[in-house]
Amino acid sequence: MKVAIDLDHTLLDYSPVIPQVVTELNLPASLNEKSQLKSYIKDNTDSWPSLWIKAQGLMYGKFIHKAKFYENAIETINSFILQGITVEIVSHKSKVSYCKQYLLQDLATENICNQKYLSELPIKYCETKEDKIQYLKNNNFTIVIDDLQDILKSIADEKRLPIHFTNELSPFLKSSEWEIIKNIILTLKEIETPAMIFNTLSSKIIQTINGDEYFLKVFNDSQRYLREKDALILLDDSFNSPEVLSAMNNVIMTKGIQLNTYPRFDDKFLTLFQEVMTSFLKSKIIHKTTNHTHTHNDYFNNIEKRLLSIKDKNIKDKCNELLQELISIYPENLAPKINISYCYPDLYKGNLKLDNKSQLILLDFESMGLGDPARSFLNCVHHMEHEVELDEIDTVYQAFTKIYPNDKDLLERILFYYNIIALEWICIYYNYSGDQKKTSHLLNEFENKMSNHQKCFSWKEEIYQRLSNKM
Ligand SMILES: [Mg+2]
Repeated sequence: MKVAIDLDHTLLDYSPVIPQVVTELNLPASLNEKSQLKSYIKDNTDSWPSLWIKAQGLMYGKFIHKAKFYENAIETINSFILQGITVEIVSHKSKVSYCKQYLLQDLATENICNQKYLSELPIKYCETKEDKIQYLKNNNFTIVIDDLQDILKSIADEKRLPIHFTNELSPFLKSSEWEIIKNIILTLKEIETPAMIFNTLSSKIIQTINGDEYFLKVFNDSQRYLREKDALILLDDSFNSPEVLSAMNNVIMTKGIQLNTYPRFDDKFLTLFQEVMTSFLKSKIIHKTTNHTHTHNDYFNNIEKRLLSIKDKNIKDKCNELLQELISIYPENLAPKINISYCYPDLYKGNLKLDNKSQLILLDFESMGLGDPARSFLNCVHHMEHEVELDEIDTVYQAFTKIYPNDKDLLERILFYYNIIALEWICIYYNYSGDQKKTSHLLNEFENKMSNHQKCFSWKEEIYQRLSNKM
């Protein structure tokens, strides 16, 4: 296995350098990120691009010794070398800065060689991005780690796996923590010649040259990792769940299996779901569900948290207004008592699959834990990625009554929190899709029904009616 690692903003963190540059150039001290500094110089000074060239010279030249290696980066490289992985730093960096004052490559080399474990490491500098791409392609690297998406896009092919060093959304395997990157690579090392990679919503499918398939799931949240790992290990023997081949902090690899979607909540689902959930209820696993609802207020707090990510002001204000209304319509003293139990909050058809032996399996346990089963049921009703028919809701409801036979207030809670979870799902939908038109439409419908004092404000009115009839 041969790994190429980019230098600037992948191994080296320049955030400690920015204040030095800002002081040297007499710019406002509030500028503390490279992108902020660049936009400030562009928009608020008459010295674009000369001042930016000067700032870059200071950043990558004069003050490079202030740049810090990201946490665990050096230890990770050392562990690769100890495991027999070939590592090379491949950097796009010109020999001399544009301002002609600094020998950038020499200064960077000096900085790297001063580090324990790194003094012997091969370093390749490329004058241009194009040179770097050619170099990465011509030198048989199996894995390339870089913070720039366009570099990764250019080198990704059936022979090379890109890993994106970022905490933003990315089409590639990604992380901004070196500890996690280490575990991704040590996991991939177990596979002979990892090659093609395919994206699914939550995981990456790795296909080797021999055609073997593996699922790789990388979690940025360690709680999600622990929930998924514990669940897969619990279910491994009994439910045809994917076999765990490796689990290291935040990275799980399972054997790939051919999966087909399963379109209905029917009797087959009912049997499987009841058996799976019974195993969890009997197990000693204790996690909380993601966005857990252990108290009445948790239901509203979850919406408040979703509001933080809504960028469109009109939508955010409208959601907040409706949330305040809901808080007054559904006060705590009227709320049915919450019965906490082990829950599967991600219940939707996308997580229900048929394997190649036509056995039904359930996937995706990263949000499982202790919470209110009513919320899990309502997530299934309002999930935007599937449609549920009335007879299917009867089946899902029947499954819940079999799984939680002692939860006498379950239906009452489902009806009580129905509109609250509906509003939460509108927020989730907007945050996920950014679809302003559909979100506004759902919010208007919600508001109208609320003003007309209807019982159900959700677009899932028929289901509400069906459930009310069961009371
Ligand atoms: Mg970089």
